[in-house]
Amino acid sequence: MNRRQALGVVLGGAWATREISAATRPVIASMEIFQVKVNHRGNWVIVRLKTDTGVTGLGEASHGPGDAATIKLIEQLFASLKGRIAFDVEWLHGYADPIVRQQQNTTAASAVSGLEQAMWDIQGKVLGVPCYELFGGALRRDIRHYANINRCTVERTPAGFRASARRAVADGFDAIKLAPFDGIPKPGAAGFQAGVDNGVACIEAVREVLGAKGDLLVDGHDRFDVPTGLELVKRMVPLNLYWLEEVTPPPGLPEIDRAAPMKTAGGELLYGLPAFKQYLQAGSVDIIMPDVKYCGGMLELKKSAAVAEAFGVPVSPHGPASPIGNAAAAHVCASMPNFLILELGYGEVDWRQNLVTPPERFERGVMKLTDKPGLGIELNEAVAAAHRVA
Ligand SMILES: [Mg+2]
Repeated sequence: MNRRQALGVVLGGAWATREISAATRPVIASMEIFQVKVNHRGNWVIVRLKTDTGVTGLGEASHGPGDAATIKLIEQLFASLKGRIAFDVEWLHGYADPIVRQQQNTTAASAVSGLEQAMWDIQGKVLGVPCYELFGGALRRDIRHYANINRCTVERTPAGFRASARRAVADGFDAIKLAPFDGIPKPGAAGFQAGVDNGVACIEAVREVLGAKGDLLVDGHDRFDVPTGLELVKRMVPLNLYWLEEVTPPPGLPEIDRAAPMKTAGGELLYGLPAFKQYLQAGSVDIIMPDVKYCGGMLELKKSAAVAEAFGVPVSPHGPASPIGNAAAAHVCASMPNFLILELGYGEVDWRQNLVTPPERFERGVMKLTDKPGLGIELNEAVAAAHRVA
């Protein structure tokens, strides 16, 4: 008898033998993957797990560096997950952790995160409770979102961003993010300054649409070095930003943060609690942005928020995602004491809300979580099939 079995005997045997009643013993039996075509920015990769009694759970593994590699890894991880129960989230993390750490990209992190979310959806359904009840209960069920208009704006000019911002405002959003420096040359290269000037003009155009009271968020997508980043900070001051995100690669962020009079945000690609601790200890940003698709899933999102809570730092999960990844993040946000605002990849496709049933809905930028079990949504297979990646 090992130590854990001995302790199980002391506790009446329940721990050692896992005496979970058949009705609530969700054995993972099969998996389907749906690859949905979105736009030039990427697809949505949806995982659906099924138990031996037919309970299904959804998760999202989109926006890794390549769908094929992500899907291959999901299939590999599933081979070991099959036959386990859907409560075995920590087991999955421990199993996948060395694989994630071995990689220099988000492929494995996306794969494990997608499977993990689906496990929580199953747990909620089997227990008859919404996922937020499994993460400490809801402090709020109204989840405020900002509209990230970056992915839907093809014309990278003030007119292009103005048009996207007008749509978002007409749809009720009062917080908008853009990243208008994508594609500019490196600092010092020809065309850099013109690219920055165009980006600043795009931000000014969105501020005009939002009015003085709207919340304006700017993402630098780490296109700057520290000296040019500090110049950008100065130019952003009159625009009264809600936050300034990832102006430089991580090593430069503490210096940007110290100089910036506005709030700073970042950390969307971080995986693992030591990474969050290090990022926070360095004073990188004022607000951290774990992504439920990259950080390891819903439990890791909650844990990284707890690390931030210890530093007195608010959390605003990153997440251009499908309605499935959005729902997974929203359920954790409901239970987070230090939750600030959640990201929505706005306006990418006009059938977005119908990818799930009931359809995804926002009222004045707020998603209202229901008391339906699990994530509270099902995949609309007809819509997924209509937009299947060929
Ligand atoms: Mg970002």
